Amino acid sequence: MISFNVPAYTGAEDKYLKEALVSQKLSGDGPFSKKCQAWFQENLPAYKTLITPSCTAALELAALLIDIQPGDEVIMPSYTFVSTANAFVLRGAKIIFVDIRPDTMNIDENLIEAAITPKTRAIVPVHYAGVGCQMDKIMAVAERHDLYVIEDAAQGMMSSYEGRHLGTIGHLGAFSFHETKNYTSGGEGGLLIINDERFSERAEVIREKGTNRSQFFHGMVDKYQWIEVGSSYLASEMQTAYLWGQLEHVNAINNARIASWDFYLHRLQPLADTGRIKLPFIPEGCTHNAHMFYIKTSGLEERSALIDYLKEKQISAAFHYVPLHTAKAGQRFGLFHGEDRYTTLESERLVRLPIWYGLTPEAQDEVVRAVNEFYM
Ligand SMILES: *Cc1c(COP(=O)(O)O)cnc(C)c1O
Repeated sequence: MISFNVPAYTGAEDKYLKEALVSQKLSGDGPFSKKCQAWFQENLPAYKTLITPSCTAALELAALLIDIQPGDEVIMPSYTFVSTANAFVLRGAKIIFVDIRPDTMNIDENLIEAAITPKTRAIVPVHYAGVGCQMDKIMAVAERHDLYVIEDAAQGMMSSYEGRHLGTIGHLGAFSFHETKNYTSGGEGGLLIINDERFSERAEVIREKGTNRSQFFHGMVDKYQWIEVGSSYLASEMQTAYLWGQLEHVNAINNARIASWDFYLHRLQPLADTGRIKLPFIPEGCTHNAHMFYIKTSGLEERSALIDYLKEKQISAAFHYVPLHTAKAGQRFGLFHGEDRYTTLESERLVRLPIWYGLTPEAQDEVVRAVNEFYM
């Protein structure tokens, strides 16, 4: 059986997990959390980064930081994971969905401005498959209308847009270290990226349950207390010790994934040339991290048949998001602005092939052969 995903594991995690275990410091903001944060701050680079228990938590923290109030509107694509919307729905916002571009499955940057109303507070671009949205245009629209931009870069670690790391371009950004992403902190985890220093101090308060505990530990106040609404958005040392083992091999993981991605692209090109399938597109100015390799079939029926066929051949493939505006909660909390020209149509065509750190060319060859057989 060729798995669809296997969590990244380098072997370096063991010793750091052991180190964390015997250190008797397991809760948040310990040595491994600090090392990971410093690594991201230096290498992305970013003004400040905070390790969180998940990307979901980082997005929730971002929604608190920009003070989303009931009735505020937040613009995002409908083709995304539920957490992108939930983070703002939790604060009472109304979600305004905008159509995607069929080539990248990212929000169509040219449709955002028309969806802005006096209630709009933020734009949340999602960098699907680790391929950057057109951030220059999005930032310009945000600036014109005085809006915040929060990048859902859950899939975007090691990807860039015009030379800048995804997640570091908007006011705030978020990564995921869930086991399905390129790098994991032992199953669950995330990162909030703070690119605007205005948010720095309050971010630490909110993630420390609304207390000024962090200032207390830095000797800036003589006792700590509850100063505003907050939650617990800290990751344990077991998570960050695991992540540290992955950061040590950050390029090995990235290079291996890119080699797998290129293998698929090259080997499936003939099938694309005959018009049977469509292959992913990387816009100029974007470097990507091979988070995902997908092909597009002619539609829902062919996609289901292909996934079933691959399953018979012991190959696990998957489709992706059911557009949020068509889901029960999406209808309750959101509204699709304009025409759904591509979101539903393109989402129904997409099939994701196995890609993970350690996937062998032999296994990939099997996948390619099975896809070709299906279309024969
Ligand atoms: C994975 C993912 C999330 C959620 O990440 P968690 O770390 O599981 O909370 C959010 N948005 C997108 C686009 C994702 O792919």
